[in-house]
Amino acid sequence: MNAIQTHIPGFPRIGAARELKFALERHWRGEADENELEAVGRELRARHWAQQRAAGLDFVTVGDFAYYDHVANHIQLFGCEPARFGFRSRDSALARYFTMARGGRTDAACGHGPGCGHAGHALEMTKWFDTNYHYLVPEFSEQTAFALAGERLLGEVAEAQALGHPVKAVLLGPLSFLYLGKERAAAEGFSRLDLLERLLPVYGALLSRLKEQGVAWVQIDEPILGLDLPPAWRNAFEQAYWQLNQAGAQLLLATYFAPLEENLSLACRLPVAGLHVDGVRAAHELINVADWLPAHKVLSVGIVDGRNIWRSDLDAALARLAPLLAKRDGKLWLSTSCSLLHVPFSLDAETKLDPELKSWLAFAAEKLGELAVLKAAVALGDGGQHAAAAGAEASAAALAEARARIAARRASARVHNAAVAARLDAVAADPQADRRAAPFAQRQQVQRERLRLPAFPTTTIGSFPQTPAIRGARAAFKRGELAADAYQAAMRAEIAYAIERQEILGLDVLVHGEAERNDMVEYFGEQLDGFAFTRNGWVQSYGSRCVKPPVIYGDVARPAAMTVAWTVHAQSLTKKPVKGMLTGPVTILQWSFVRDDQPRERTALQIALAIRDEVADLERAGIAVIQIDEPAVREGLPLRRSQWNAYLDWATKAFRLSASVARDATQIHTHMCYAEFNDILPQIAAMDADVITIETSRSDMELLAGFGQFRYPNEIGPGVYDIHSPRVPSAAEMTALLRKASAVIPPSNLWVNPDCGLKTRGWDETNLALANMVSAARQLRAET
Ligand code: GLN
Ligand code: ZN
Repeated sequence: MNAIQTHIPGFPRIGAARELKFALERHWRGEADENELEAVGRELRARHWAQQRAAGLDFVTVGDFAYYDHVANHIQLFGCEPARFGFRSRDSALARYFTMARGGRTDAACGHGPGCGHAGHALEMTKWFDTNYHYLVPEFSEQTAFALAGERLLGEVAEAQALGHPVKAVLLGPLSFLYLGKERAAAEGFSRLDLLERLLPVYGALLSRLKEQGVAWVQIDEPILGLDLPPAWRNAFEQAYWQLNQAGAQLLLATYFAPLEENLSLACRLPVAGLHVDGVRAAHELINVADWLPAHKVLSVGIVDGRNIWRSDLDAALARLAPLLAKRDGKLWLSTSCSLLHVPFSLDAETKLDPELKSWLAFAAEKLGELAVLKAAVALGDGGQHAAAAGAEASAAALAEARARIAARRASARVHNAAVAARLDAVAADPQADRRAAPFAQRQQVQRERLRLPAFPTTTIGSFPQTPAIRGARAAFKRGELAADAYQAAMRAEIAYAIERQEILGLDVLVHGEAERNDMVEYFGEQLDGFAFTRNGWVQSYGSRCVKPPVIYGDVARPAAMTVAWTVHAQSLTKKPVKGMLTGPVTILQWSFVRDDQPRERTALQIALAIRDEVADLERAGIAVIQIDEPAVREGLPLRRSQWNAYLDWATKAFRLSASVARDATQIHTHMCYAEFNDILPQIAAMDADVITIETSRSDMELLAGFGQFRYPNEIGPGVYDIHSPRVPSAAEMTALLRKASAVIPPSNLWVNPDCGLKTRGWDETNLALANMVSAARQLRAET
């Protein structure tokens, strides 16, 4: 055995050309049967394993593939499909799998969203830690039974072995599997942790089967070790792993995304054969882990960033590895920090990307190459500086190349903009820079006099239906088939239509409808300096859905106004106030690949300055209400609570900096697509938006209670209808919700609006729902 071995915790499964996505969608449309889909899956796995071996990895990872989601795979593997789906024995495994993922027959009939309580609804989907990947949430109750039911993993292992690959199988660990699920239809007092005892023998049986099948290593992921765990969950680890260890398989316990902190010594002493740690996000813990982990165990260091798209600084990596090598007697496994699921496939497809920028990047395929270079450099024992041995030349050259790219990026004039830096320094020196001139109470007065809105003013969140005509025009314009002036005319007509509709509906604060926007981040990124866009940089979001995040590579600046012309056009068509519509700095940051050569905070503040300029321009053009959307503030929260305050400090500051340029009489709105604010209410209040609109209808206004108890000082628009569903709520339903809201929030501070933007809805339902919403507001006005 080599002292240095390489592997990865997981690889993207969607395929270099998103083959899996297209195969899935063909299958769901009924154009490809299960055999065809399986053939595509098999082909992709084979290709990805071959790629891992070609890059010199010592193992291929098996078990990271999924037709929809890896957590859902475990639901079938362990035979715990929720009974509510009522599966029959003639339903195939794949059919049952897609029903859990996408909902059954009753789903369409009821028209509610996931979690409405009706049988047949898809499993709830939620974010996989702090990534933009969504997993399907397992459901547990005291009725849940487990059995080794799925043969898929064992089959894939056999596939890889037949192809001649050394296999490391990967499984989600039992504690993370239970923790990431939720109780559903369970008895009072039942905790899913109670199921551990029932689950462990099934894991044990699986591990024995894997061992029998000749699998050398099983990577068992317990990413929850990077969370602030309740004591009962922490305490369950030792006993659980003692039991799993009886199966005799060599286990590599894998953690990622966060430092281990108080779980560090626990992770080091669990009875397993090896431990993988995130060497990027927990770099400061590496020495400690190397000290605590018993010498006979394997230490796998995730030294290459699996969450970002930048080339590694290999010299810095080697410097970080050197003391670990010394402590571990020269024995280490090298890896990416986490599964490469979270980065795009390969730079090969980026034929249009600027070559200089491209030379700074590393996607999944290129990261495999980095591991190979690191392995060779470590093997040479001198950091590759004096590589002379035969066979080492190539890796020395690769190392030199990487070094040159890193240096070029650091020095590039395209990355650094002195004016932006100077502006940021000025902001840092001015404690008032992120404050509005007057406190809210005064602004409220001035704004009321200026806007003269009725009580319970009505508005929408920004987007109106993105009709096929709109999408078609935008796509034709992008392809160069529609001339710029024809496109402009088409969008202006759409805006006029949206304004006319809102006038007829009797809304109070209008929006232009966002027809010209394909995506709330991309639209701004395309107009800002420091952003780049890839052709094929797709990352799986859930199932067949992928997103293509922009790349923020340099200092952000705004060369010209981005939204003013559209907004002014809309305002010219009505006497009612039109709300300007911007995306906030935290959301732009959160939904992009962010440069790693300066703190995220600094990038957020740069974006904030660009948005600030747009706010000033809109105001100068006569726009009296401006919304700065920040739906991603909450998802940016670090996994560890100990890091929340630092993040919230700069995140709220970035928002305030973008808004504080507004005069007192300009009303600043913000919007967030959720309502679990209870633990961050002081910081939400500290954003000091004049109006915040949030999602509350699905929780029956319950989520608003926190705002009431906290005595949230500014105005609030709790969403009164769920835009995720085509169902048109009645005026009476919305009136009832508003009465509930009035009981916890001073009615004079309440706005009336939907939960979120309407871009995914059709005009018919939108017209009906908004008409009902306006009558609900009128009803409330009459009552008070
Ligand atoms: N203004 C955006 C819209 O209405 C907000 C979207 C969001 O919050 N995700 O579409
Ligand atoms: Zn929203």
